[in-house]
Amino acid sequence: MLTAIVGINWGDEGKGRMVDLLASDYDVVCRYQGGNNAGHTVINESGKFVLNLLPSGILRSEVVNIMGNGMVIDIEHLNKELTNLRKAGIKITPENLKISDKAIICLPYHVKQDILEEERLKDMKFGSTRRGIAPVYGDKYLKKGIRMGDLLNKKALKNRLDQVVTWKNLMIAGGYKSVEFNPNDMYDWLIKYSEELTDYICDVGVYLNDAVKSNKRIMFEAQLGALRDIDFGIYPYTSSSSTIAAYAPIGSGIPGKKLDNTIGIMKAYSSCVGEGPFTCEMSGDEAKALREAGGEYGAATGRPRRVGPFDIVASKYGVSVQGADELALTKMDVLSYLDKVPVVTAYDVNGTITKEFPMGEDLNNAKPIIEYLDGWKCDIGKCRKESDLPKEALDYVKFLEKQVGCHIKYVSVGAEREDYLVMNK
Ligand code: GDP
Ligand code: MG
Repeated sequence: MLTAIVGINWGDEGKGRMVDLLASDYDVVCRYQGGNNAGHTVINESGKFVLNLLPSGILRSEVVNIMGNGMVIDIEHLNKELTNLRKAGIKITPENLKISDKAIICLPYHVKQDILEEERLKDMKFGSTRRGIAPVYGDKYLKKGIRMGDLLNKKALKNRLDQVVTWKNLMIAGGYKSVEFNPNDMYDWLIKYSEELTDYICDVGVYLNDAVKSNKRIMFEAQLGALRDIDFGIYPYTSSSSTIAAYAPIGSGIPGKKLDNTIGIMKAYSSCVGEGPFTCEMSGDEAKALREAGGEYGAATGRPRRVGPFDIVASKYGVSVQGADELALTKMDVLSYLDKVPVVTAYDVNGTITKEFPMGEDLNNAKPIIEYLDGWKCDIGKCRKESDLPKEALDYVKFLEKQVGCHIKYVSVGAEREDYLVMNK
């Protein structure tokens, strides 16, 4: 059974927490794209964990975790994450963590290039997380990447680095007039941070194909959401990777297998990090209240997130791009303070009212059409079944479900593992 858990919106929908909850039903959890540019927050009996690179299944000892070929891995950061988890008593061995030999390494010169470019852009900047993600994916497709598997042969690694770093300096020193990187320093960095990792690097496809054959339950965990997908998101304000479910088997290492099920994680309101059109955006005190209620500050960067009401146009598009079979609606409890709950039900694009998500200039020009639903004005954090929900809250869920055209199976009403309810079909 192959299941993908993916974001319907701009990311930060609460995927980490849903994966942590659902991981008990799975034998294997795979990350298939992205790097340490986003963060999952998981709170359980062992404490609070922010995971940037490791799959969320790492917090359950019986789950095997895969870091797939579609990922870009900053190995210094990975070392830090592993150290933090081990300090908290989490056991990590080559039995429960396997890293693809085909995953690409994010090096210090990628981070530097990211920073240099954001500085060059000044006011026109993209709001990059400055963790080297776009430069390292660029290098992957330029075929100048260093893969995790390259760490296993030091002589070949050194030769490859000499070539690649010389090439990279054409841009860093030649183009940006910054300080050259020394291939020997990069070699030392790679050796230092790979020492703890070499036992984990393997052809994860061999393991995954066997796992499929023996009917293991495999979950694919996405980072970010549909609207940040490199192809189908709000380009160029996207991530540099494929965040969609269809890419999960490819980015994990089993391109020949098909998904059985896709669960979309959709937040009860909207939030977005970085620049670009965000049609539903709230401003002033209204935004401040929602940001505070939802704790909308970046897990990886601490940056305040942009916020807005639930956006039906964008979410319907997200559901379609992800091919979601069912949805989890997260952070419903956050809206409990509102007398009237705003929802963006359509866009006005140059005088035309539409529910189809526009792209390019049409999206830049789109204005939100807002409707208001009744608020429930009470704490719903203790609700554990559909009938516990106040009528207004249930109406809200049913309204969103109808509008986006996909069953909302789970509603989460708090950050902790058990704070959720399963809806009737
Ligand atoms: P991800 O990137 O999709 O995994 O989401 P993030 O971890 O960046 O953001 C989700 C945040 O909301 C985390 O701090 C979670 O602990 C928290 N969270 C998740 N679900 C709920 C919920 O139902 N209610 C509340 N109040 N917080 C939640
Ligand atoms: Mg996040």
